[in-house]
Amino acid sequence: MDEMKLHKLLMRFADDDNSQGFHRPLEIDGSLYYTNGKIIVTAPLMDVDRDNAHSLADKVKKYGDVANGNCGFNNLPEFPDFSWCARCNGHGAVEFKECEDCDGRGWFEHGNHDYDCKNCEETGRVVVEGGEKFPCSHCRGTGIINVGSTRIDGFPFGLVYLSLIKMLPGARVCVVPPEAGDDVATLLFRYDHGVGALRGRRCD
Ligand SMILES: [Zn+2]
Ligand SMILES: [Zn+2]
Repeated sequence: MDEMKLHKLLMRFADDDNSQGFHRPLEIDGSLYYTNGKIIVTAPLMDVDRDNAHSLADKVKKYGDVANGNCGFNNLPEFPDFSWCARCNGHGAVEFKECEDCDGRGWFEHGNHDYDCKNCEETGRVVVEGGEKFPCSHCRGTGIINVGSTRIDGFPFGLVYLSLIKMLPGARVCVVPPEAGDDVATLLFRYDHGVGALRGRRCD
């Protein structure tokens, strides 16, 4: 997997509405950390855009240390997969522009006849980069089709994040039960280029 492809995949771990400002990887002690506060994954330093200082850095580092320690790592169990919304490519928003073929009407005249506009499938709008942004109606702006959680070793973890982990080459996982004073488990994971940790969901 080349660097830019890996970086783009890992940005899915950092880039969401709850990312607490981590829209870029952190560089700590010779590794990159991608996180949104709920999931963290490391990678070797790559020649990509990066940011340095952050308050969560110590916590992130601790997760990395734990994931390098003793833990029985196994393949991810089977779980119902989620998918990125095909309409908005997982962005949650769709950029529209008025269809130029029909001037936004969805049909046009030619001679004495009206024709349905095929360019915009009669909607009058076409999806284009740089157009006006609207929340994607197909996924209600979430960018994903299947939310929810599944249990590993009896502890619930979010499907979206499990599916992200599954995309990593050589991913293996290990569940750490809740520590004293905490009410959720942690899923540690390793993959070909680094380690990571996912914060679990609360048991119902
Ligand atoms: Zn049109
Ligand atoms: Zn969508």
